[in-house]
Amino acid sequence: MTGFIYHQAYLQHNPGWGHPESPDRLKAIKQAYDNLNRRDKTILHTPRPATEDEITAVHTGEYFREMGAVCLTGGYHRGMESELDSASWDAALFAAGGGIEASEKVLSGEWSNAFCALRPPGHHATPNLAMGFCLFNNIAAAAAQLLKKGAGKVLIVDWDVHHGNGTQEIFYSSDEVFYYSTHQRSLYPYGSGDENQTGAGKGEGFTLNRPIEPGAPADEYLRLFHQDLNTIEGRFQPEIALISCGFDVCKGDTLGRLNLSGVHLAEMTQAVSRLAGGKIVSFLEGGYNLNSIVDGFIGHFQALIDLS
Ligand SMILES: [Zn+2]
Repeated sequence: MTGFIYHQAYLQHNPGWGHPESPDRLKAIKQAYDNLNRRDKTILHTPRPATEDEITAVHTGEYFREMGAVCLTGGYHRGMESELDSASWDAALFAAGGGIEASEKVLSGEWSNAFCALRPPGHHATPNLAMGFCLFNNIAAAAAQLLKKGAGKVLIVDWDVHHGNGTQEIFYSSDEVFYYSTHQRSLYPYGSGDENQTGAGKGEGFTLNRPIEPGAPADEYLRLFHQDLNTIEGRFQPEIALISCGFDVCKGDTLGRLNLSGVHLAEMTQAVSRLAGGKIVSFLEGGYNLNSIVDGFIGHFQALIDLS
């Protein structure tokens, strides 16, 4: 079965009027899910919130308390570029919790694979900074729990059009988590995600960055993606793969200038699944054009169902 993580709390975080990271993105995905004629092959799951211990496995305790206070007071947060209030805090806890629950269910074999339709997104959040619409680093929190549950090696594939600077920073010195990112060159967060950022200490060689030129055709992108997965396969045999799934990599996005569509994401999903022995958990990150999001989601999610 393919899991689908969703919570009403995800819709309650409102980053501001006219903000690109709007709840409408998630409403569009949920509607596409509800309209799927193969929904009987999936399980809709309402998750629990993450605990403080689970969050502080990848963020500092000071950051956890600070952001809690900021959300309680309410107001605009400059780093996150979003309005925050107590509903944002709840959404962020349920988002991290959803990713952790899905990852545990896939690791144990209860589910074959899963998609987490959550917000706020996570991959820009560093141990002590909220950045780029991200409060908690959902995918990093899930990877940390997987390691605690006995997964020896976790692969993170980040195909959001932006570089996942937060995830890279959290696991930069780890040889248990391999971080691979494809992203558009010279896009936010500027200066992060160059090819020469490859890990440090025992994590040297366990970070792989692939900046792609703006406007690159889809077949060129796919050629590089498959080439990089082959490289990773020679160095790292993951028990499970987590995907930072940004639909802003799709053609028509308002922030990105790459040219993928649902059919390409389906091919990439199959390739990642092969590398990870079928165990995949996908996390919603960016994506700002509703039509591109729905097209990307359907291609990606149908591939997960086919693989389950
Ligand atoms: Zn993005």
